[in-house]
Amino acid sequence: ETAELERVPPGFVEYLQAQGIEELYPPQAEAVEAGVTTGENVVASVPTASGKTLIAQLGMLSAIDRGGRALYIVPLRALASEKKAEFEAFEDFGVSVGVSTGNYEASGEWLAEKDIVVATSEKVDSLVRNGAGWIEDIDCVVSDEVHLIDDASRGPTLEVTLAKLRQLNPNLQTVALSATVGNADEIADWLDAELVDSTWRPIDLKKGVHFGNALHLDDGTQRELPTRKSEKQSAAIVRDTLEDGGSSLVFVNSRRNAEVAARRLSDVVEPSLSPEEREQLESVAAEIRDVSDTETSDDLAAAVERGGAFHHAGLAAEHRSLVEDAFRDRLLKVVSATPTLAAGVNTPSRRVIVRDWRRYDGTAGGMQPLDVLEVHQMMGRAGRPGRDPYGEAVLLASNHDELDELFDRYVYAEPEPVRSKLAAEPALRTHVLATIASGFARSRDALLGFLSETLHASQTDDADQLEAVADSVIEYLERNEFIERGESASEDVELSATGLGHTVSRLYLDPMSAAEIVDGLRDAAENDRTPTPMGLYHLVARTPDMYELYLKSGDREEYTELAYERESEFLGAMPSEFEDVRFEDWLAALKTADMLEDWAEEVDEDRITERFGIGPGDVRGKVDTAEWLLNAAEQLAADLDLGVSPAIREARKRVADGIKEELLELAGVRNVGRKRARRLFDAGIETRADLREADKSVVLGALRGRRKTAETILENAGRRDPTLEDVTADQDARAAVE
Ligand code: ADP
Repeated sequence: ETAELERVPPGFVEYLQAQGIEELYPPQAEAVEAGVTTGENVVASVPTASGKTLIAQLGMLSAIDRGGRALYIVPLRALASEKKAEFEAFEDFGVSVGVSTGNYEASGEWLAEKDIVVATSEKVDSLVRNGAGWIEDIDCVVSDEVHLIDDASRGPTLEVTLAKLRQLNPNLQTVALSATVGNADEIADWLDAELVDSTWRPIDLKKGVHFGNALHLDDGTQRELPTRKSEKQSAAIVRDTLEDGGSSLVFVNSRRNAEVAARRLSDVVEPSLSPEEREQLESVAAEIRDVSDTETSDDLAAAVERGGAFHHAGLAAEHRSLVEDAFRDRLLKVVSATPTLAAGVNTPSRRVIVRDWRRYDGTAGGMQPLDVLEVHQMMGRAGRPGRDPYGEAVLLASNHDELDELFDRYVYAEPEPVRSKLAAEPALRTHVLATIASGFARSRDALLGFLSETLHASQTDDADQLEAVADSVIEYLERNEFIERGESASEDVELSATGLGHTVSRLYLDPMSAAEIVDGLRDAAENDRTPTPMGLYHLVARTPDMYELYLKSGDREEYTELAYERESEFLGAMPSEFEDVRFEDWLAALKTADMLEDWAEEVDEDRITERFGIGPGDVRGKVDTAEWLLNAAEQLAADLDLGVSPAIREARKRVADGIKEELLELAGVRNVGRKRARRLFDAGIETRADLREADKSVVLGALRGRRKTAETILENAGRRDPTLEDVTADQDARAAVE
């Protein structure tokens, strides 16, 4: 063990010891053998929670020790901050860490100073597109959860980004971390890497299926689980775990189901809580209610008070981390979650219950079984080293046949191989444009050469197919004026991006979104119309970069009516009702636009979530996307000299802050959000200048007597003397707004 640790950078050994890490886990030792500390490419395919992060750290810190720099690519934004916090521990021995989030167009030069940069693959891709020079100076890149290359929507970006980084710096060290998959050797071949392929886990994981009153485990044993009359399977298991002093994580297939399960399962937990636990849980619940005043927030707090919680992507980020922390602290005894929790976030639990192994899939028409890989990732969350004697992961069978089926399908099954999803038009549209615009390929041959360095190329015998898709994408990009063909020397054709194409690539837009936006804005400009916010929200809502709201039953009538009512505002022609699919899409975009308009009309968040049947996290997500797309639209309009930029800017600011036009100025003052701006305005303070001159007691009254907040805001508005020491709040102003 000491031999291995000798190759670990100085300082790091003490750090590890301080973390209670005395020796390397076997897969970690194998990675050192494979050369992770000496600059070799390594692919580590290792089960969840078996210490992959440390393998990455060994690679990064050794590179830094040799005077180099490292980049850590995470699959989810939420993980970027978690990883950054984790790596910040190295600041003690002089290693600086930066996280690159935020807007897509920036090149992030300040990150050039950092030893380790953490970013999502989309962010790295956009940094490359924006010509961030420092990217070329990276010596070690880590790709976390590299098996997500298989994901149709985000995988191609990771794949192309890794290929680009490796082209930029042929000496780059690549460390790729993967869950156990069927073909880690193919990924290693592609990356010219040594493979560490291990099934070792720090504590035992028993997998099995629950049926009737018994738990059937993969070691052949069976255990009777006392079940009360009319008690559901998951409730019986949660109760059994609880009696044994452990916690349970229950995976379900929808947000709704997560919420319902949390309510039911906290009934099971509640009677066993100690008075101290109750008190602590109440304070967590209070924090949850503080974050937002919505039904979801209330439901979550109510469950938390009773020792349970739900976790899904519709929750606000603050809610998610409050739940994760309380679960890690073992204060919460049960969490029901959609599979987002399985992807990355570190929340081990004694037992994992995979309650739903089918999920609704619209494109496949109906309920579809989950991938083995996904179920194994969920199961891998069972058991926390040092706290649990073992982990146990169970599926639920409702009859004898299902018991056998689940064993075959998931317990004994190998995970699927990772397959590149690059050869699809939507993926290539974006990446071909970016590859040409940022100079990675200046001709058709060069483009095909670049594509031949991808995982896709190494996995297919049919090079013609990729070539055919690439050609149809080239044609699409040319038709929409994003690229131009130049000289054709012999067989090859020169390709270059137009000014518009460069802008689209830098803005990180899907070229199809850009084409839709450009058409809509040209339509307005040619007809001398000033676009309305609704027109603009609809325009961006119907691009492939916006994830539209679903139409529910009854919505079709409601939004058809609204479509005719607001027809004059739409940019571009409305499809006919007889074009079924296109019309339906148009209406779904209208529903999304309607939600954005509600937000910009200052409708209460609570009412919006209720009316559209979505969570507060969804509102924020759509608002952020709209803000980004409108910002892109503004730049496209400026590039094309269409003269509609001011209207777009106003619509963007209104949706970003969720305010009517009259509040734009006030909301521009730091710390004044939509609610505060409204209260100030209603108390007669309408501008920044008013804030500087208004009667302090009125300001304080409008801000509900919050002195500290009021002082900060007055200062931000540029008031010379912002202190409120002797001022009392104006009761009239408070009454006026309440
Ligand atoms: P993965 O990324 O594989 O899911 P992590 O890297 O998060 O797993 O590791 C899981 C836990 O194991 C962490 O809490 C980590 O501190 C701990 N750990 C990692 N390596 C060792 C080791 N060699 N000895 C003891 N604990 C370790």
